[in-house]
Amino acid sequence: MDKNKENFVRLQFTSIPDNVALARVLISSLVAQGDITLTDLEEIKVAVSEAVSNSVIHGYQGQEDKLVTIEASISKGILKVLIEDQGVGIEDVEQAMSPAFSTDPERMGLGFVFMQSFMDDVQVISTLGKGTKVILEKNLIKENQACSHLAN
Ligand code: ATP
Ligand code: MG
Repeated sequence: MDKNKENFVRLQFTSIPDNVALARVLISSLVAQGDITLTDLEEIKVAVSEAVSNSVIHGYQGQEDKLVTIEASISKGILKVLIEDQGVGIEDVEQAMSPAFSTDPERMGLGFVFMQSFMDDVQVISTLGKGTKVILEKNLIKENQACSHLAN
């Protein structure tokens, strides 16, 4: 069976909140082509939505005429997703990623917590005034699937 084929997509869209749904559809359609559990699918959708929402809300601070880019690749069973904005950037990435930290008192500060708990790796590269890149990684090949592969 051909599982998790090599693949690459790039999507660029304007920074309106409704477009977060586009990112969810893109990532679900991509990973659903391969062998994936429903739990993994849901977790990946949440992680990607959180990163895209951050670009729209914090990166562009509600300006709706800016651009968010998503690139997603699958290679050797590893999903990599880049979410990029050219917004305000993050002053202190370590602090921003710590649980319950938010620069907005109305928010929970849990976006990065979800990304970290649902993905195998989260990297954030950000420059003040230039923008932010979030790189999410997840191994789509689970141990039991690997075993059933060997058995076939
Ligand atoms: P929640 O996600 O629970 O609604 P939140 O967005 O504040 O709250 P996180 O997603 O964990 O929480 O982000 C933490 C902080 O990091 C944000 O409050 C914001 O200051 C900063 N941040 C995150 N992403 C970006 C971004 N793309 N551009 C600028 N700042 C960002
Ligand atoms: Mg957030």
